[in-house]
Amino acid sequence: MLSLIKLPQVFTINQVPKVFHEDSIISGYRHPHSSATDCILSLFQLTNETLNIWTHFLPTWYFLWEAVTVVLVQTAWEDSFSWPLVLFLLTCCIYPLASSLAHTFSSMSARARHICFFFDYAALSFYSLGSAMVYSAYVFPDKWVNGFFHQCYVPIAVFNTVICTVIACYSRLGLPFVHYNHDVVKRFSECQTPRFSKCLRVIAFAYPYMFDHIPLFYRVFLCVGDGCTDNDTNMLHYNHIALAQLTGFLFATHLPERLAPGSFDYIGHSHQLFHVCGILGTHFQMKAVQQDMVARRPWLIEHSMPITFANSVGAAVLCVVVNLTVIFLYSLPLLSAPACQEKKHDKGAKAASARACVCS
Ligand SMILES: [Zn+2]
Repeated sequence: MLSLIKLPQVFTINQVPKVFHEDSIISGYRHPHSSATDCILSLFQLTNETLNIWTHFLPTWYFLWEAVTVVLVQTAWEDSFSWPLVLFLLTCCIYPLASSLAHTFSSMSARARHICFFFDYAALSFYSLGSAMVYSAYVFPDKWVNGFFHQCYVPIAVFNTVICTVIACYSRLGLPFVHYNHDVVKRFSECQTPRFSKCLRVIAFAYPYMFDHIPLFYRVFLCVGDGCTDNDTNMLHYNHIALAQLTGFLFATHLPERLAPGSFDYIGHSHQLFHVCGILGTHFQMKAVQQDMVARRPWLIEHSMPITFANSVGAAVLCVVVNLTVIFLYSLPLLSAPACQEKKHDKGAKAASARACVCS
């Protein structure tokens, strides 16, 4: 039966346009103008994206199962104290799902690739807000609860999601209409300045991570004396922090493939390891937060600021609306590209590689 399905051909780095190139990955590229069907078929064919897709697609269902369990078994809608946890679990489903969809359909065209990863970045920003919400509700050390920083924390985290998405999207092509249009890149693009783009992207995701973790880092590394919330959950927090550091290291360094370009094209390259470590980190983060939530519930209900619609669901909705607007603005010049711009590249992977970065 499988032999009846003709799987799409894969290409080497020299056969695809520069915009599709991955650092130190030499082979296993899909056609740069794959059809949606070819993209879906590539899930069952070994390409350099296959494990990127599966390492985020399968965990989506694990986090969805956790979210459904909390909502149905714990009847979360009746208990505002658990709303931040539900929102966090929702962001834990959305970010791997957006990533696996981006990796699946990113080979349809250059502009599809840019737009797919704009959504991926926004989903990661949304996850950073989910983390901030559960930290605000369940993880802040006792001595910081209700302080000035605690009261500003979630509003700043909402603002950070916008900054993070704007910088991460900017790292691909610059500013929409100012630096790029449907067929022109006026200032820089990821293909011309990959290190600058990578640097911007690392900053875009490291900054909200560091901000979100200020209360946790203070609690587990710096706090001394009373009010430090030194409980059994700290070990789970340490596991999460260690995996998050490893995740950032893999994203920034492109190891191990930089040491042996071409040897890890299909299995074992840094992006796959980055996905796996990120998901394991999120798993430990979820377990830690759930344990803190149960252990500290009576004290937090009595002493912490109440969880309202505005500081939970309202903040999440605002974040989604503003981030979708940012994606729309960055995508608009790409979407307004005339159809012929894309069609004229359908002459084969090699011919497409000679064309301009933004649409080829
Ligand atoms: Zn990815």
